[in-house]
Amino acid sequence: MTKASDQSSQAYGTLWVVATPLGHRDDISDRAREVLTTAPVVAAEDTRITRRLVEPARHQRWVSVNEHSESDRINELIDALRAGDDVALVSDAGTPLISDPGFRLVSAAHDHQIRVSPVPGPSAAIAALSVSGLPCDRFFFEGFLPPKRQARQRRLTALADHPSTWIVYVPARDLGVVLEDMSTALGAERPITLARELTKQFETVRRSTIGELKAWVLADPDQRLGEAVCVIHGSNVPSPKIAANVLARALKEALPPSKAARLLANVSGLTRQQAWALVEGNDSCEDGGSRA
Ligand code: SAM
Repeated sequence: MTKASDQSSQAYGTLWVVATPLGHRDDISDRAREVLTTAPVVAAEDTRITRRLVEPARHQRWVSVNEHSESDRINELIDALRAGDDVALVSDAGTPLISDPGFRLVSAAHDHQIRVSPVPGPSAAIAALSVSGLPCDRFFFEGFLPPKRQARQRRLTALADHPSTWIVYVPARDLGVVLEDMSTALGAERPITLARELTKQFETVRRSTIGELKAWVLADPDQRLGEAVCVIHGSNVPSPKIAANVLARALKEALPPSKAARLLANVSGLTRQQAWALVEGNDSCEDGGSRA
């Protein structure tokens, strides 16, 4: 492993951000194993869980860095890095910082011009997306939805028109109620893929619709065990520009042009000038049709 130097040429340690398996023990990389057994300091979300993958070496110091202790540990870890020790940051499963602790430490390392380097590997979001059978060219990662029902419903309603595929982490025990809320906010016909217990004995990958998946999960309590990711197809709502074009044509047929343009601007969010251009058939609405 190479040591990083700061701008004043003092040798600092490197903060390694190390991904670990989601379930299958063989999914740890050789490099992850090497970093976790050679770095003088290992900052683990739960040291007992990381010990199942690698045994600490004698020269190492293992400390726990979880959502409660991260702030308190930052100074100590930054001091170790500034003194030249490498620190390996690891979470219980998958990639640290992805719905896991570590952001404050990584951010503080950047503040101190300390080298931060990934040891890449599994992450449930990417693993689920790769097997989802839904478009993967663009996607949005939401992480966990709010646990309280009203807040979750509000968030799902806000996501309903998201155009590309999106990904949420869901504790499997909540799948029934979350799919119920998705059905209300997104409609029962929206395509969705459930990826549960990935790389583990009872792995499930099922592409379906929200309505069908909800019925299936409710009928089989085993599907509400373990850990799950839902990958949701983006909305098929036409782009604002296409919608405005269609509306302009309809309004033009029923109203005088000035009235049609005024109404179109009011309902579409276009400026009066853009609406007028569409009604006149001179499409200058190049920003996609929104005022923003
Ligand atoms: N940092 C992790 C990553 O990179 O995926 C995520 C940690 S987050 C605290 C835990 C959530 O990840 C679970 O609730 C579940 O949504 C998802 N997850 C983790 N392991 C999984 C698995 N084997 N199968 C399906 N989802 C999993």
